[in-house]
Amino acid sequence: MKVLIINCGSSSLKYQLIDSESEAVLAKGLCERIGIDGRLSYEKTGAEKETRDAPMPTHTEAVQLVVDALTNPKTGAIASLSEIDAIGHRVVHGGEKFAGSALVTDEMLAAVKECIDLAPLHNPANLIGIDVCRKLMPGVPMVGVFDTAFHQTMPRKAYLYAIPIEYYEQYKIRKYGFHGTSHSFVSKELARFLGLKLEDSRIIVCHLGNGASISAVQGGKCVDTSMGLTPLAGLVMGTRSGDLDPSVVDFLGKKIGKDAAGVIDVLNKKSGVLGLSRGLSSDFRDLEEAASKGNKDAEAAFEVFCYRVACTVGAYAAAMNGVDAIAFTAGIGENAAGVRAQIVKYLGYLGIELDAAKNAQRGGNVKISTDASRVAACVIPTNEEIAICRETVAVLKG
Ligand code: AMP
Repeated sequence: MKVLIINCGSSSLKYQLIDSESEAVLAKGLCERIGIDGRLSYEKTGAEKETRDAPMPTHTEAVQLVVDALTNPKTGAIASLSEIDAIGHRVVHGGEKFAGSALVTDEMLAAVKECIDLAPLHNPANLIGIDVCRKLMPGVPMVGVFDTAFHQTMPRKAYLYAIPIEYYEQYKIRKYGFHGTSHSFVSKELARFLGLKLEDSRIIVCHLGNGASISAVQGGKCVDTSMGLTPLAGLVMGTRSGDLDPSVVDFLGKKIGKDAAGVIDVLNKKSGVLGLSRGLSSDFRDLEEAASKGNKDAEAAFEVFCYRVACTVGAYAAAMNGVDAIAFTAGIGENAAGVRAQIVKYLGYLGIELDAAKNAQRGGNVKISTDASRVAACVIPTNEEIAICRETVAVLKG
């Protein structure tokens, strides 16, 4: 099957066309600045990447441009639209309504709409992407793959917040977790790589990217994760604060003259390692370089980030009464050897010892702990598009 993967943001649209049997990427690209001016990138596998300005006032024009690029007689990856067998859409929030991926139907879309207040920035964009594809490619089966679904197996003790229970019952305020497609893909891939039986394994996945979250996966099922009602919770991130005393919202708001929404905006966009580094950068490449030149703020940002990861790993080892293997994934987890080394230094008590030479290797799955380590630590590159493709095929095959 040829499966088109669509990941729609408020002003962007990432896409990949994947052959589900071989899992080969046939073409991929990005529409950016939708609603502003518009820029399209398109790359057919084996050919040069093309980037050009292309007006896209709305997502409709963006999807049309993607379809035109894919079927372009000279550079297209397919001869006609009829070659697209299915479309897999990333959807950010499925609330408690979706514990797995779901076929796109009118009822399914109504349920996703009911989750909009849980993800007001993301779900509307995801819904627009689905709507436009339904109009441009009627009859092509579509599947929604949710960031939250993998975490729906969390037990009540992990997802309930200790606030009056009526607020959970009435407003569904609870921990949901995000990056679920990545946590699901990486935990399975780690078990396969190490030859562990998924059903008997205790795995901790550290998805460390610009957004970052950790999950505890026992017997292949998520039992806890660090993001919450929204992706603001848990780890220190590129620009997000992660966990802090909730009283900070009121206290800081009074000091700087902002309401709760204004402070939350600061916590989402100006905090994390960007805020700690005095606005230097949210990117670990810049922070590592600055720290190596003696920048104390960059050094502190680095330390706080790694410390929080290590503490969360410890918490999840406790939650599962032990851990068999830990995976590092996403932009930082896959590329920042220094961050991994710093985190693993805290994990000696678990019986993890770093193999420095392996930690310096690049590309693919790599075990970075020594063979003598009681718990394995590995780099497992995530691949959310392949994960969405697999989910799409699985739902369609029933
Ligand atoms: P992601 O959100 O998964 O795309 O991760 C993006 C982040 O990964 C960037 O903001 C960087 O902080 C980090 N990153 C990417 N490449 C490198 C690298 N070579 N070294 C250190 N950090 C990196």
